[in-house]
Amino acid sequence: MKIVKRIFKFIVIIIGVLLLSIVIMLLVDKQSTNYLKINNIKSADNNTFLITNVNIIPMNQDTILVDKMVHIKDGIIQKVADRIEINGIETLDAKNKYLTPGLIDMHVHVWDRYELGLYLSNGVTAVRNLWGMPMHLRIKEDVNNDEIISPIFFTTGPKLTGPEFIGDDNLQLASPNEAKEKVISLKKRGYDFIKTYYGLTEDIFDAVIEQAIISDMDIVAHPSQKVPYSYHFNPQIKSIEHAEDIIQQPLNYNLSDTLKLKEVINDFSKSKHSSFSPTLTVYNNIYQMLIDDNILESEQLKFMNPLIKKVDSKEQFDRWHKTKLRDSSIVKTIKDQHDLHIKIIKKLHKEGVTFICGTDAGIGVTIPGFSIHQELAFYKKAGLSNYEVLKTATINASKTHSIMNNMGTIEVGKIANLLLVDSNPLLDLSALQNPTIVFIKGRKLNKDSLNYFEEKARNRKNLIASAVRYLENLIFEK
Ligand SMILES: [Zn+2]
Repeated sequence: MKIVKRIFKFIVIIIGVLLLSIVIMLLVDKQSTNYLKINNIKSADNNTFLITNVNIIPMNQDTILVDKMVHIKDGIIQKVADRIEINGIETLDAKNKYLTPGLIDMHVHVWDRYELGLYLSNGVTAVRNLWGMPMHLRIKEDVNNDEIISPIFFTTGPKLTGPEFIGDDNLQLASPNEAKEKVISLKKRGYDFIKTYYGLTEDIFDAVIEQAIISDMDIVAHPSQKVPYSYHFNPQIKSIEHAEDIIQQPLNYNLSDTLKLKEVINDFSKSKHSSFSPTLTVYNNIYQMLIDDNILESEQLKFMNPLIKKVDSKEQFDRWHKTKLRDSSIVKTIKDQHDLHIKIIKKLHKEGVTFICGTDAGIGVTIPGFSIHQELAFYKKAGLSNYEVLKTATINASKTHSIMNNMGTIEVGKIANLLLVDSNPLLDLSALQNPTIVFIKGRKLNKDSLNYFEEKARNRKNLIASAVRYLENLIFEK
């Protein structure tokens, strides 16, 4: 009996030590991103400014307002005018510089807080996270309580799928009733939107939509192959993700099925409430993996979350390389599909479809923050003007959901999420890659802070803490 007791005691101690070390590891990881705390950033203690001599790209119209003043008070744009007389306020002379709304990435996957700094250093002042977990609710809370400097943080709940296991940690729904209960609980817990996923069946999808309307939750849809593509043009679905799913689903991988493509384009053009987030970068990155044997060792990959790098980036890279060894024509197939995505964007653009910029950053080799500039360049390649391209990451994004309406343009009453850049991005979009100053809710981040955020995120060592947070999701979100 004594020996059983001893073994039991030993097991309890081991479990206790394990739990304690997990808690310590999580705390240490959180501690090591304390550089994002508003209190720790000297320039961020003020959110009231007068910006003078600035050229404004307001993004509510295709124009530049030359040599203006902007008054920001408590993080909100108060006035835009030729002259504003106001005393006792911090003034920023922005002579010869350009002010644009901060960028919005509408399709990201965040794995830790270091990424928040990477988004900011790349001019991204709001993100829509599309694979919600408990850690994201904690980030959202800290952002909303002005604890940390971060892009404004929106998140869907977990990816909702049908009863069939489709080989991922999606939340499987067994019945319409369970679907309704889930939507109610996700709303209650503070998730902003519902994410529907590949594999969602029609009866359960109907129930999700029905409850989402009642609960006032917008839906973001990764198209489900269990319903016709046209099903996704439901008014409660505010955005449809991924150009590649047009090819995988309605076109059934037949790149030359122009008739079917015409049908899809027609449906999109009739559906004015649906925004389309093509996420061209993440697909193109398959091609990049195929042609670059050293991509996992590249400078850019040093900014990837170490867990994702070790698991997802490597798994994707190995899988595509094995495929290439079996059949080298895959390289051309992937390139052809990417080129078709560009053509589809061109056609959809002609029909007046609303695009929102989304990158799918945070998975594979798609790097948080940096990738938004690649995504914008692809839209440009598809024939959108620089103004139209910039719309996808500003006003179009903010119009997609009512809870985002208070950002995306430089107008009175909007949140002062702004980029100050050295040259005119309407002439050359690459000006956006290097903002001199980023304002986030009126708080100023200068180049030194932005560089520091990048330095802190490079080669970070939080693999286990990331794994524990992911595990937390598997245990508590199911
Ligand atoms: Zn995604």
